[in-house]
Amino acid sequence: MNESSLPERYAQLLQRIDAARTTAAVHLLAVAKHQPAAAVRALYALGQRDFGENYLQEAQAKQQELADLDGLVWHFIGPLQRNKTAAVAEHFSWVHSLDRLILAQRLSAQRPPAQAPLQVCLQVNISDEDSKSGCAPADVAALAAAVRELPNLRLRGLMAIPAPDDQGAFQRLAELQAQLNAQGYALDTLSMGMSADLEAAIAAGATWVRVGTALFGPRKP
Ligand SMILES: *Cc1c(COP(=O)(O)O)cnc(C)c1O
Repeated sequence: MNESSLPERYAQLLQRIDAARTTAAVHLLAVAKHQPAAAVRALYALGQRDFGENYLQEAQAKQQELADLDGLVWHFIGPLQRNKTAAVAEHFSWVHSLDRLILAQRLSAQRPPAQAPLQVCLQVNISDEDSKSGCAPADVAALAAAVRELPNLRLRGLMAIPAPDDQGAFQRLAELQAQLNAQGYALDTLSMGMSADLEAAIAAGATWVRVGTALFGPRKP
């Protein structure tokens, strides 16, 4: 990747987000998976503070390398497993990919008491794909009700990675969230939209777009 073009890509991406925005604030989560710590550092220097990681070990190595940077906010967005919850609870501010109660219970129990509650989104398998992680849409209400009771988690909203051909997916996720809010929740976060489809996601109400390649260029394998 061409280092000197990162500032241009960042500025263009912020412009894309702003152009698609209507009223609500839309935040950019810079997805740094398979990108070196130096790329995160370069984007930090341009003002970006929120970064997403999918793989715990890779994330922890980068966090150590970047420990001198103040105010970095790490979001875990990858598949979560039981043996990863303690480290995620300790080293991240947000989890976007929470999809099972057992994982929520572990994250809450393992969140260090000195830290603010872990901000969480429930990942929904909005396109009903066999291979995808995420809670089934029909099970979201029950999971939300249980997660809401956990003391060290703060339920913020829903997240999804729709199938590429699923045109109505963002709208359906927004409707699911609206249904929960009509039942007394105050969810303010819709984590949806990536490099290729962030405009459509924002049009449907995204508050976080998760962007990797449009920002950093192609990932190293
Ligand atoms: C990789 C990834 C992204 C970013 O995808 P791009 O197409 O590179 O923007 C967003 N969300 C999740 C969960 C990812 O794994």
